[in-house]
Amino acid sequence: MENKEIGVMCDDNRFELIEKYKQKLIKATNIETAKEEMKVLDSVLFRMWQMGWLDTLEEKDQNNEIKTKFKIGDKVWTIKKVNKYIKCPKCKDKGKELIGNIEYHCANCYGQGTVLTNELEWVVQKENPCEITRIKILLEKDRTEIVYLGGENIFIADYLG
Ligand SMILES: [Zn+2]
Repeated sequence: MENKEIGVMCDDNRFELIEKYKQKLIKATNIETAKEEMKVLDSVLFRMWQMGWLDTLEEKDQNNEIKTKFKIGDKVWTIKKVNKYIKCPKCKDKGKELIGNIEYHCANCYGQGTVLTNELEWVVQKENPCEITRIKILLEKDRTEIVYLGGENIFIADYLG
């Protein structure tokens, strides 16, 4: 019996919703200067809650919320495109070759063991994680652009929709 009552109380979001939309109204209008309206505001909002209208508003609000991948304060690692090196095919990354009994620097990789290719590859810049300090959201007609900013020159763009 007791448990059931607690359950009902927890499910009841009326006070929370009424307070939320009361504050919204006060913020967005000059209703606070109208004493007569303020007197009935709680009961009007209660009736709206009874009609289920506040739940509808709440649903709409939640749908409008933009979910960002990162939050302010999140640490992220950035990636950059760099030239791709591969193991030297001639010396198999040893950097040396034997000619007769004499060991020479590999002529193909100049003793480096790796050679540069024409390809580019993405690498994670592990040495500098960066903290996101700002998030800019640009709403457009059919897409949303989210830009995360942090550190000195960190700029990460994400497009939704
Ligand atoms: Zn080599």
